[in-house]
Amino acid sequence: MIYFDNAATSKPYVEAVEAFVDVNKNNFGNPISNHGYGRKAERILEKSRESMLNLLSLSSSFNLLFTSGASESNNIAIKGIAKKYKNRGNKIISSIAEHSSVINTLEKLKEEGFEVIYLPINALGYVDPKDLEKAIDDKTILVSIMSSNNEIGSISPLDEYSKIIKKYPKCFFHSDITQSLGKIKMDYGCCDLLSFSSHKFGGVKGTGGLVFKKNISFEPIENGGEQEYGFRPGTVNVAGIKAMEVALKKSLSNLDDNLSKISKLNLLLRGFLENNPQFAVNSPLNSNPYIFSFSTLKKKASVVVEALSNKEIYVSSVSACNSKKEPFSYVVYALTNDKEISANTIRVSFSPESSEEEVNEFVNALKQIIVEVKDR
Ligand code: PMP
Repeated sequence: MIYFDNAATSKPYVEAVEAFVDVNKNNFGNPISNHGYGRKAERILEKSRESMLNLLSLSSSFNLLFTSGASESNNIAIKGIAKKYKNRGNKIISSIAEHSSVINTLEKLKEEGFEVIYLPINALGYVDPKDLEKAIDDKTILVSIMSSNNEIGSISPLDEYSKIIKKYPKCFFHSDITQSLGKIKMDYGCCDLLSFSSHKFGGVKGTGGLVFKKNISFEPIENGGEQEYGFRPGTVNVAGIKAMEVALKKSLSNLDDNLSKISKLNLLLRGFLENNPQFAVNSPLNSNPYIFSFSTLKKKASVVVEALSNKEIYVSSVSACNSKKEPFSYVVYALTNDKEISANTIRVSFSPESSEEEVNEFVNALKQIIVEVKDR
């Protein structure tokens, strides 16, 4: 098979699976149990926390809260901050192209009386810093803008947003870095809070994190035990967290080599699609090369995706979290303002294991399918 749906989830690294099995076999204790075996698990957990913060060069002023993944991290960051700091103001700024776990969380807060502003994206697929500068004011308590977009791969200039937000000391800056972490170089320290999922960079599913500045507190959105600084109750998934640490270490140590390899694959695919009148390329140039979005101009994208699937070539028509609905990419619509193009998107997403042979095979299969499938 050719698996080009790594933005939905990626194959875990063998080392990560081995670490997961090892902890489950040999250190399955509960890290808050008050006995030696529990404390052994606690030591593994705390070592992973420290090691991950060190890998991100954030150990001096940030904490790391472990979660089940980026959806939960986004919920804790956005709801937790909004409710904790509502006495400072009620305005939150985000973007029109965020992941559903950000947008739907913000929509809930809107129902509770918060003012939510969704900034548009420019032709390069990100929020123009000038728009943020115009929208932010003394009532703004949170700005939440993602790093790499999960549908088109556009990369937001987080450092530029950060300079604007810093002029408002009561406002926190959160970024969903799920599609950037372990893939592209970035300055993690320019934000106050960062959300991510480990299964996008070779960890196992069901683990993720929320990095946050040590001075930040949250209103817990779930109630229970005192785990994870008292902000996230429930027995902690030590094995999954150990696997996440292993995967992060591997991803970051190979980041440069992987990035240059994937950039070449991306350009190869772009070259073919840009020269074929059957397709329109959606991903702006200089986007995160791991994610590439294009649209079919004459055929139904969902039919093409199914035909590819029948050949064991796996891509997605919209992001996995929206794939149960009618396929329509609100992100591509925000970029192109074209309903037909937005209803017929295909997302190819690479992993460090992806190869030139696979891209060539994908292109050949696409050429064949485009001839076989009838026009929409
Ligand atoms: N944010 C972004 C940008 C994503 O791509 C995803 C995964 N589709 C998520 C959040 C949610 O991650 P998870 O499903 O692991 O909670």
